[in-house]
Order: sequence, then C-alpha cells, then structure tokens
Amino acid sequence: MAWAYVWAVMFAGKRWGKLVIPAVLMLGVMPDIDLFLEGFGVAHHTFTHSLFFWFVIFAPLLLVYRLKVVPYFVAVVQHFAFGDFFVGNVMILWPFSQLYFGFKFPMLSVFDVALETAGLLLTAGIIIFNGDLRRLLSVDICNIPMFLPFLALMTSMLFFAVDLPIVPLISHIWYSKLFASIVLAHIFFAIFLAVSTVQGLRTLNIKHRRLANNEKG
Ligand SMILES: [Zn+2]
Repeated sequence: MAWAYVWAVMFAGKRWGKLVIPAVLMLGVMPDIDLFLEGFGVAHHTFTHSLFFWFVIFAPLLLVYRLKVVPYFVAVVQHFAFGDFFVGNVMILWPFSQLYFGFKFPMLSVFDVALETAGLLLTAGIIIFNGDLRRLLSVDICNIPMFLPFLALMTSMLFFAVDLPIVPLISHIWYSKLFASIVLAHIFFAIFLAVSTVQGLRTLNIKHRRLANNEKG
C-alpha cells in the first residue's frame, strides 16, 4: 500500500487534481485477492499478478479518462512488477507465458524489511510535504472510504496470523527483530488508516447535530 502511494504520486500530474488515496491504497493490494480464491483452484501469484489482466481491466478507463488513470494503473502494477517481483516471483506475462519471473528474495529477509521500511518512510515524507497528511487527518467525508484499506490491511494481517503454520502471532512478534519491525510498521499504518476513517465519520456526526439543531430551531 505504501509503495502504491509512492509510485502513484510519481506518475500523478498536478493538473489532474488530487489522487483518490483510498483507491490507490486498495489497488496496491488488489492482486492478492487470489489468496482468497485458492478454494476455487486459483494459485497465488498467477493471473491477478499479470500485466495483461490489469491492462484489460483498465483499458476502458484509460480510453475514457486517459492520463488521469495512469497513477491508479501504476498503483496496481507496481504490486507485482516491483514488490512481488523482488520479494517473490510472479506470472507477470500470463496468459502468454506460464513462467514465474522475479528475484525471489524471501519474505522477512533483510532486503524485504528494508524495502517495506523504505516504502513506509517515503510515504510518510511525501504525505507530510504535499499536504496529503493534513487532508487525510482532517474531518472530511472523503476520508470515510479509508476504512476499505484498513479492512484489507487487517484481513491480510489476520490471514498471515492464522494461516499455515498456525502460529500465535502475538507470542511470535519478538521472535525476530525483522518480524517485529514488520508487525510494528503494520500496526502503525493500521492506526493511521483507522484515525483517518474516524475523522471521515466525524463529518456524519457534525451533519447529524446540525440537522438536529435546525429541527429544534
Ligand atoms: Zn501479491
């Protein structure tokens, strides 16, 4: 999610207006929807991690909205052309090739943790300087959809916590420093998404109170 934001910002033109950040964050994790399709015989890192698949989905949007869509396309493509390509391997050329491409750095390797930390730090730096932090933490109805990336993050955290091998995650956190840093970064990011959502929800409360006051008046 963090790298999706960094890449999207890099490809976003100023004149196209502000990025819809909940959409960028969700697109950043969307290819991993295949984790939930394993029951239907879909293998992880296959067609949802291919350029062709997402190009077909985005083609109509690219035709209608043109360059404005590029940052969102980049947000989803970087998931497997950058992230999973380094930490893992993916069927990036599906359906033209069933081969897996990538550098296969293991999850929780120093490289993986360094990459994730760099993504989070870059995101933190960018949102502070371009004003997105102020936007995401303000009482604004546009922040309510931040509950979607929050839910996605919690789901993936719980997915890894309960999936094979079944490890009690909490007791495992301090097992290795690399694992602890990843978990803490996830918790920090989850809190940020939750606060942004709550700030969005506060607009409803304010509106409700205004309506109540008008009725009294
Ligand atoms: Zn993936």
